[in-house]
Amino acid sequence: MSFTLAIVGRPNVGKSTLFNRLVGRRLALVDDQPGVTRDLREGEAKLGDLRFTVIDTAGLEEATDDSLQGRMRKLTERAVGLADICLFVIDARVGVTPADEVFAEILRRKARHVILAANKAEGRAGESGLLEAFSLGLGEPLALSAEHGEGMPELYAMLAPLA
Ligand code: GDP
Ligand code: MG
Repeated sequence: MSFTLAIVGRPNVGKSTLFNRLVGRRLALVDDQPGVTRDLREGEAKLGDLRFTVIDTAGLEEATDDSLQGRMRKLTERAVGLADICLFVIDARVGVTPADEVFAEILRRKARHVILAANKAEGRAGESGLLEAFSLGLGEPLALSAEHGEGMPELYAMLAPLA
């Protein structure tokens, strides 16, 4: 059976980098600049023998602090509604932010399955952020490095039983 995975989380945590790695083609824009990617983007992902649809939530990059929360909520709820599984990404180098807490709350209420991932976890700079992630109450965080391809076998192991 195939499934749909939505990658959600605040801007700049590495969602599009992970999307591109899973899809294997540069379908989503990755940029350091705000305002580059928009809305929801869909691709066909491949991870080991799993094939699934993946949704990248963008479109929050150009929001101001004032408008971010409302847009985040709308867009995340749309993505959650389309998804069988949500991959909630935080930045292990930054740790848990107030915006991350808002996402966690939406996901706890609306998502069927949530996998929590702490991205940018390569090296030691991500260790404290990874530990902080437990405080979100979404179970054990998965340590990922979307840029370096670390944590993909562990992601596979979490997705395979849900597929
Ligand atoms: P998005 O806004 O959540 O889609 O984040 P992007 O995928 O656009 O990535 C934002 C920035 O984080 C870019 O500069 C990426 O190169 C960088 N980035 C993404 N994944 C990693 C990672 O695993 N480690 C590190 N150190 N940087 C990453
Ligand atoms: Mg993006």
